[in-house]
Parts: sequence; structure tokens; C-alpha cells
Amino acid sequence: MNKRVLVTGGAGYIGSHTTVELIKAGYEVIVVDNLSNSDRAVMKGIEQITGISPRFIEADCCDREAMRRIFEEHDFQSVIHFAAFKAVGESVAEPLKYYRNNLVSLLNVVELMVEYKRRNIVFSSSATVYGDADTLPVTELTPRKPATSPYGNTKQMSEDVLRDTAAACDGFASIALRYFNPIGAHPSALIGELPRGVPNNLVPYITQTAAGIRERLSIFGDDYPTADGSCLRDYIDIVDLARAHVVAIERMIEHRNQKRYEVFNVGTGKPVSVFELVHCFEEANNLKLNYAVAPRRAGDVTAVWADTTLANNTLGWHAERELADTLRAAWQWEKSVRGIE
Ligand code: NAD
Ligand code: UDP
Repeated sequence: MNKRVLVTGGAGYIGSHTTVELIKAGYEVIVVDNLSNSDRAVMKGIEQITGISPRFIEADCCDREAMRRIFEEHDFQSVIHFAAFKAVGESVAEPLKYYRNNLVSLLNVVELMVEYKRRNIVFSSSATVYGDADTLPVTELTPRKPATSPYGNTKQMSEDVLRDTAAACDGFASIALRYFNPIGAHPSALIGELPRGVPNNLVPYITQTAAGIRERLSIFGDDYPTADGSCLRDYIDIVDLARAHVVAIERMIEHRNQKRYEVFNVGTGKPVSVFELVHCFEEANNLKLNYAVAPRRAGDVTAVWADTTLANNTLGWHAERELADTLRAAWQWEKSVRGIE
């Protein structure tokens, strides 16, 4: 069994945690990253956690010749493709940047996989493909809604590229994992999320506010039709999410995948409101957060959370960590980055 995996975007937030879990499960990992949204120091953190330094290749997945050399020189059967840009707002302002990076990188990887007969790919998709769903929780059969941002559109188009390629090529299989809201950090506090500039996402904004880098958290809207008026999301621990990639790869390597293209929701199945998350953070870390209610943020859906039955039953994967533990890990990581005791 070939236990070598190419991880594109492996120096990023989800990629680094997945690399750790792959190594722990006995895989040999080759990381490819152009460091456009990450730091090489992450590789040191991975080594400190696992005792193994994975091969790191600094390359752009959009550079077809550089990618071809990697396929020529390395005998992996499986790929996990994280490399992409992910800022929704930026994608609206600069759509071509997103279409080029997210689609060309995927097309290069898939075309080279077909050419070099490399079978398995796990793709980072997103709950954003469901948009403002008509029924909740969403299952994998819930219809996708037309994308409301170029970023979301690249996820839908990428899923379609993989579906159609799997239908046409016998020797090609793919699993698209639709992530809900990944949060937290490795419990060692040696790797975590490193947003550049002002964070867009809730949890990094909370930890930076607690660290005194941001003055106050804005809660975007308290007049939604939910119990406490704030939006509901499904916050999935980063290590739980990383483990889902390992079981997805395993499933394809062992040919247990029933179809050559499969989709799984990766979430906890539990809706959590913004207020609930903030209060859980305060309690878990025994501190008070400065926050205030602000107007709704454009483009936010009221609620989305996962039905995880398919991933639970078919992949045998379950979210395990409690939200409080995840939020403790997020704060430990922020403190370690900022040198706070
Ligand atoms: P991230 O920015 O931390 O990681 C992405 C990594 O890919 C970075 O290290 C970046 O340098 C690298 N990269 C980008 N373009 C590249 C290219 N052309 N060639 C080589 N490397 C490239 O983001 P993340 O949060 O770890 O997200 C990973 C994947 O998961 C992305 O595809 C993202 O769209 C998807 N996703 C993320 C979330 C989330 O909330 N974080 C939710 C759903 C889906
Ligand atoms: N949110 C907030 N304040 C912030 C950032 C986010 O109130 O500074 C809310 C946002 O409106 C949404 C939830 O937190 O309801 C999760 O937002 P995030 O950007 O983390 O993820 P999304 O679900 O939008 O992808």
C-alpha cells in the first residue's frame, strides 16, 4: 500500500494540522506550498509535534512545470489539495485573482494526476456551496445554491471538475469534504491559525481581542430569527477536521469508496450562536471579552449547520472535541504567538 501523500497548501492552517495527523497515522507527507498565506516556520512546528520533518517544496500549484517536476520525482498515489485563496470579500473585489489561483492550481493537479496515473484526491470544499439553505441541517443531498461570491463559485466549479473527471477516468477518484467552520489550534500550541492583517473570521477576532490586539469584537447582528438573535454556525475543531482527511484518504487507498466521486459534510452537527460561542470562550478561559453588537455583515446567512450522518456512518468519522476545549486551544495558541504568559 502506497502511504505517500502530496499535500498542497500544507503549510496553511488546515494543511498543517492535517499533515500532523497523516504523519501520526504512518503516512509519508510531501508538502507543496508557495507560502502566499503561510510561514515556513510552520514546518518546524509540525516537526516538533511529530518528531518527523516532512519534505517541503516551495512551489506554486499554478506553475505547471514546477508541479510536473514534483510528479516526476515523487511516487505518491494520493493528493490532498488545500492550496487556494479563501477570503470571500477579497474574492468579490478581485475575482480574477481567485478564479486563476483556485481553478488553475486544481486543474494542474488533476491533469497531472491523470497523466501520471495517481489515483486519489481529497479536495477542500466548503459549506458555502449550500448558501442560504431552504432546510436545515444540510445533508450532502441538499441542493447547492448559486454561489454568492467568486470564492464560493470556485468551490462549486472545483467540485464539478472532480465529479466529471472521476466519471470519465477509471483510474481517478475523489472525495470532496465540505468543511463547516474550522476553528481552534493543535493542543500543543505549536501550530494554529495565522491570519494576516485584520481577521475576517470570528474566532481569530476573539482571540486577538482577548490578547489586546483588537479593541473590541463586533457581533454582526442580534436581530436574526434565532433564539438569541445572532447567527448559527457549526464550529468544527481543527484536529477533528484534520482527522477527516486521513480517513478519507484511507478509504480511497483501500478502495472502500463506493463511487469514484463522493462528498461528505465535515461538521459537528450542532448549531452554535455567536453569543454562545463568545460566552463559551469566556468561561473556558476564565476571562471577559470586550464585545458590542454591530449591524449585520453583508452576505451572512442566518444559519447553517451539518447533518453529519453520512460522514459518521460511511467514513466512521465523528467530531470528538468539546467546544470549550477547542476554544481553550485557540487561546493557548494566540498566547503562544504573542508571547503572553
Ligand atoms: P490557508 O490560507 O491557511 O492555507 C492555504 C495554503 O495554500 C497557504 O499555506 C497558502 O500559502 C497556500 N497556497 C495558496 N495558493 C497556492 C498556490 N497556488 N500554490 C501553492 N500554495 C498555495 O487556508 P486554510 O484555512 O488552511 O484553507 C485550506 C483550504 O480549505 C482552502 O482551499 C480553503 O478554501 C478551504 N476552506 C477553508 C475554510 C476555513 O474556514 N478555513 C472553510 C472551508 C474551506
Ligand atoms: N462574526 C461576528 N463578528 C466577527 C466575525 C464574525 O459576529 O468579527 C459572525 C459572523 O456574522 C457569522 C459568524 O460570526 O455569523 C461566523 O463568521 P465567520 O466569518 O467566522 O465564518 P462564516 O460562517 O461567515 O464563513
